[in-house]
Amino acid sequence: MDKCTLERAEMLTSGNSADASLDLWSRNDVQTCTSWKAPIIWEGMFNPSHYDQIHRNEGSSVALTVFAVGRYLDAYLEAFLTSSEQHFMSGLPVSYYVFTDTPEKVPNIKLAPNRRLTVVKVERQARWQDISMMRMKAISDVIESDIRHHATHVFCFDVDQVFTGRFGPEALGDSVALLHAHYYHLPKRLLTYDRNPKSKAFMKTGDFYYHAAVFGGSWRSVKALTEACDRSIKADKENGVEALWHDESHLNKYFWLHKPSRILSPEFCWDTRIGYRRDIEVYRLLWAPKDYANLRTS
Ligand code: UDP
Ligand code: MN
Repeated sequence: MDKCTLERAEMLTSGNSADASLDLWSRNDVQTCTSWKAPIIWEGMFNPSHYDQIHRNEGSSVALTVFAVGRYLDAYLEAFLTSSEQHFMSGLPVSYYVFTDTPEKVPNIKLAPNRRLTVVKVERQARWQDISMMRMKAISDVIESDIRHHATHVFCFDVDQVFTGRFGPEALGDSVALLHAHYYHLPKRLLTYDRNPKSKAFMKTGDFYYHAAVFGGSWRSVKALTEACDRSIKADKENGVEALWHDESHLNKYFWLHKPSRILSPEFCWDTRIGYRRDIEVYRLLWAPKDYANLRTS
């Protein structure tokens, strides 16, 4: 197992002082630290109440962005938001930003004190790939116009998932990526990077394969990430190419060039269709059933 020691001083300057208490040796079945000394967060490594307390003391607040365009709103949004109220950053101020083409259909969810919801109207794109990709630009615009005045951190989610366990401030960091449940245990040569040299997302090799269904960080980092991915998506369009996995391919390229400071294990976004895995000790967020035939535009 690839192990390393996080330098206490480094963790203290990384903006996450609770990380000095992370126990990287409590899980000897999985990789808990990257070669660039970023922690990979697994159940058992951290003390939840410690993170709750430190982030409350530091005044952390979180903006959650989620897109529910077209039929995805009816299919997923209510369960996503209801479960998020149960499990996402309990005790911290949370501002939801729901991006949709049908604001009138956003369900009226009762929010805990200190939590609010803003609806942002977006145009519906004809192709589902474009709906997925346009998220980068929409997120960066709202960080600039609104989020940066209201939240220290931003987390961006797909809507087709449901929280089933604690997803707390142990997930907060300057730049946060998630290990894709289907790829975290595979050798690098099998990772599904974009292999077309004409695309800005082209990668020969990488560190991990990250899942675009969950990413986050400080508002500055997420703004830089979403702006860079949007620029690459636009450059590809001008060159008449599209990356293999759309925004996710661009996200992977970005995190290859700009290493995340914190990585979430697949416990933070698991697909139960994979079946039982001994290393997945807790389910925090689960993939909802896919129904592409009925839900996607074209
Ligand atoms: N999305 C949407 N409407 C669509 C297609 C996509 O709102 O018609 C949003 C939604 O938040 C969804 C995300 O884009 O979760 C990514 O698409 P999808 O979940 O289908 O991608 P996958 O998880 O299969 O890679
Ligand atoms: Mn999804």
